[in-house]
Order: sequence, then structure tokens, then C-alpha cells
Amino acid sequence: MTATAGAPRVAVRDDLRALEGYHSPQVDVRVRLNTNEAPVDPPAAWRDAFAAELSRVAWHRYPDRGATELRAAIAASHGVTPAHVFAANGSNEVLQTLLLAYAGAGRAVATFEPTYQLHGHIARLTGATAVEGERAPDFSLDLAEVRRVVAESRPTVTFLCSPNNPTGMVEPEAVVREVLDLAPGLLVVDEAYGQFAPWSALELVDDDRPLVVTRTFSKTWSMAAARLGYLVGPSWLVAELDKVVLPYHLDAAKQIAGRLALRFADEMTERVAGIVAERVRIAGALGSLAVEQWPSGANFLLFRPTRRTGNEVWQGLLDRSVLVRNCSSWPRLANCLRVTVGTPEENDAFLAAMAEVL
Ligand code: PMP
Repeated sequence: MTATAGAPRVAVRDDLRALEGYHSPQVDVRVRLNTNEAPVDPPAAWRDAFAAELSRVAWHRYPDRGATELRAAIAASHGVTPAHVFAANGSNEVLQTLLLAYAGAGRAVATFEPTYQLHGHIARLTGATAVEGERAPDFSLDLAEVRRVVAESRPTVTFLCSPNNPTGMVEPEAVVREVLDLAPGLLVVDEAYGQFAPWSALELVDDDRPLVVTRTFSKTWSMAAARLGYLVGPSWLVAELDKVVLPYHLDAAKQIAGRLALRFADEMTERVAGIVAERVRIAGALGSLAVEQWPSGANFLLFRPTRRTGNEVWQGLLDRSVLVRNCSSWPRLANCLRVTVGTPEENDAFLAAMAEVL
């Protein structure tokens, strides 16, 4: 196709003109520790079971629209009923569906920064006003600030992220309960990294509470390629999401992949323990280098070099074929870098490169 000079273009929605998309640069390196994925593939037995079931899919038919078996398996794993579970293409799509149903024009969505950028981004895409509260200087949640934000903007949706991306910090249970009391609308706790943390807000979910917890198969379950996430929340909320989500949004292969993954819960729990042990080891090693770091309950660590700039250290690591997330230019995160916990060998490579660069 040839571009015609001066050809009329259709203007994007006015409220989207100033927005940018969300990207994480993908660079070809030996050690990739920038996107918080699991360091290894799912178990071989999962692959075999998946291949066997795939061969029996009726490809000419639409998939089960309600993802009945998948939701039943997820529900059983959390001791709730399928009516409390909604699944979608990654937890990002879960968040999008939630916000399409509960945010939108004329409503406010509150976040406490720094946090996962997509919460505010998706809120804006639905036409809602994204209201940014500030965390305390140590990145913990400041309840006085929560009170101020909810009093001023009366958000329909308030987000917490625990462990928080990119800080790695876990919100204590007392804090989540307090925010639940303060928030006038829905409280969404994004637990994409929940399995790495010592407690989960899942235990607070109840039909009488406007609380939703989101989870993903992308991290613990080693299935980022599948794009599958879900929420556990009140049944009245799950019923409303059905109005917003596209028909047959979850393909047959994904429904099988997720259902079978849950059979390997014991193996995954073991892997989580291994990743947490490596996280503790990395944090210990960083402790003897010239960096400031934050206490992580996730599969990644946020740190700030104290004698060199974040950009210099990021480039130095890249020169040694180690890719971490460069948060240096993000608001409130000057000079910060975020490293995903990898295999022990990858973590060794990261630490060796860090020692050289610093
Ligand atoms: N929430 C948080 C806090 C995340 O860090 C991520 C992944 N970057 C997601 C949600 C989205 O995960 P996915 O869409 O792969 O489930």
C-alpha cells in the first residue's frame, strides 16, 4: 500500500490523544530478568497432558463460553464456588473487564503510586478519571493519604497491588482491611505475585464485601505464553462482568491449559519456595553492594544504585547480556532498577555482572 501525502486520517478519541501505550522493551540477551516471568517451563507432565487433550478438541465448535471446567478447577483451588470466579486473557484483561463494568466516564479510579502502571492506564482507556495518590517516601501505603484521596475523589474503584509492582512490597492485612473500610466503592487487590507473599487478601473475599482479588497464570504457573488470569470476588460482581466480556473470549486451548496446570499445584508450590529462597539470596548479596533496596514479597526486587546512575548500571548489565527493567525514568523511581528472580545460574550471572558494574 502506498501512503498518500496529506490523506485524511481519522482522529483518535480526544481523551486518548495524549496517552502512550504500555511497553516493556524485548531485547535479545543471554539472561532476561526484566518481565517477572517464571524462570522455567511448566512441568513436562503438564505438556503431555495438554497435548493429549488438545488432540480431542472439537475445533469447528466455539469453546465453552462460561469456561465451566476451568472456573470449577480455579474455584476448587481457592475453596470458593465457580460463581465467584471470572477468567480472562491474562489478568490485564481481567482488570480491563472489571474497569469496563465499574469505571467509565464520570467515575474515578484511585491508585497509590508508584504501582502497576496499567491500573491507571486501563482506567483512562475506559474514560474514567485516574486519581493518583502518593505512597510514603519508603513506598509503604500512607492511610492518611488514602483517606484524603477517597474523600476528595470518591473513587468507584480503588486499587492496591500486593506484592506491589514495581516495589515488591506486600500490603499488611491490617492495611488492606483499613482500605476496605475507607474505600467507598470496589477495592481491587492485584495479586499477580500473590503466591510469593506471606499472606493473601483472598481470605477476605466474601459476598458481603466489595473486594476483588486478581491472579494470573503468567508467573507462578509458568504460563505467560498462554495469557490467562482470573479474579475471585463476590458472585454479584462476577455476574455483572458477563455483560461486558466478549462472547467466547477464552479459547478452548487456554481453558484446557489452565485447568491442567492446577493439577500441578504441589510442584508449583515447591518452585515458588525455590524462587523465594533465591530472592532472599539475591537480596543478601545486593546488601553488600552499593545499592539501596526494598523488602520484596514477590519474584523480583527493586533496587537503586547509590554511586552510579540507574541508566549506567542498566547499560553495564546489558553490556554483560543481562537485561533488567529500567525504571530510572519512571515518576518517583529515579535511578531504580527491577530484577526478576531467575534460575540460580541466571541470578549468579546477574550478581557477577552487578559486582563488575558497581
Ligand atoms: N498485574 C501486575 C501487578 C503485573 O505485574 C502484571 C504483569 N506484568 C499483570 C497484572 C498482568 O499479568 P498478565 O496479564 O500476564 O496476567
